[in-house]
Amino acid sequence: MRAVVTGGAGFIGSHLCERLLATDHSVLCVDNLVTSSEDTIAHLMDDPRFRFECRDVTAGLSVSGPVDAVFHLASPASPADYLRLPLETLRVGSAGTWHALDLAADKGARFLLTSTSESYGDPQVHPQPESYWGHVNPVGPRAVYDEAKRFGEALTTAYRRERGVDAKIVRIFNTFGPRMRPDDGRAIPTFIRQALRGEPITVTGDGSQTRSLCYVDDLVDGLMRMIGSSHGGPVNLGNPHEITMLELAQWISKLSESPSEIVLVPRPQDDPGKRRPAIALARELLDWNPTTPVEHGLRETIKDFRRRIDFDDFGTTP
Ligand code: NAD
Repeated sequence: MRAVVTGGAGFIGSHLCERLLATDHSVLCVDNLVTSSEDTIAHLMDDPRFRFECRDVTAGLSVSGPVDAVFHLASPASPADYLRLPLETLRVGSAGTWHALDLAADKGARFLLTSTSESYGDPQVHPQPESYWGHVNPVGPRAVYDEAKRFGEALTTAYRRERGVDAKIVRIFNTFGPRMRPDDGRAIPTFIRQALRGEPITVTGDGSQTRSLCYVDDLVDGLMRMIGSSHGGPVNLGNPHEITMLELAQWISKLSESPSEIVLVPRPQDDPGKRRPAIALARELLDWNPTTPVEHGLRETIKDFRRRIDFDDFGTTP
């Protein structure tokens, strides 16, 4: 199989490229590095089956030769990134998704959209099954991401219905692991960076808001199963094990043997209070289940961050 991975130099994309190569596929990674750097894929560059093109997918996505699968991951993903890049986020979610779908249609390739739990907004239903339509503020600051992804879902569904593209949607819940950008503003990288530097660990609100945390290896396994399946989705991919942000901070502090104190800071607007996937559909359709214990994932991530502290002192802001 020859796969195109948009956003392939990002956190999840780099793990996906690695998995595709490990399972004997060739990969064209297309990324404009707006929220990443080539460091994440440096170890893949010598593989003759891997090619990287630094391109903005909103400018079009023509590719020569056959393509069997298009994985569309390109999009700023962390709140800090999409709030800094609101128009770029809307553009890649709309025009970028359009171009990626056109590529799949032209090549007769399968297509996978990586949508998000943020499609559910600040949910009024808990946990969130795929049948829940969500609770999104269309003019709030987070709308640039939530609504771009919701548009992408509508577009993907229309291509499936109208143009017969074998297009699929997964809704990814919070995923973590090695190669996250320490300054991307998400809770786990922020807490680990603060813990390793001995700085106060900043928990927003009263820390009672919850997230469910899926290790990246499990998530990539779900992406591979989805692209190989006959289902269109949307299918939730995430770990239903839910913890509060305060518990997470305490866990990271303990695992990294940090002297840092935990402090409470104001919570951002529209920050969802609860987040937990219902994954019955993924279990049923894909026989998928996250199997990596969160503690193991946190240890691996802390190890990776420690290594990078030694080498570049976190100088990775693009
Ligand atoms: P990331 O920021 O690490 O990776 C996204 C990549 O997309 C980056 O390499 C960035 O440079 C690239 N990109 C952005 N705009 C582009 C454009 N116009 N042209 C080409 N490349 C572009 O984020 P991630 O965490 O790896 O997320 C990957 C995908 O998964 C995103 O679509 C995100 O919405 C989705 N997702 C992630 C999570 C999570 O917990 N990490 C949760 C839900 C959904």
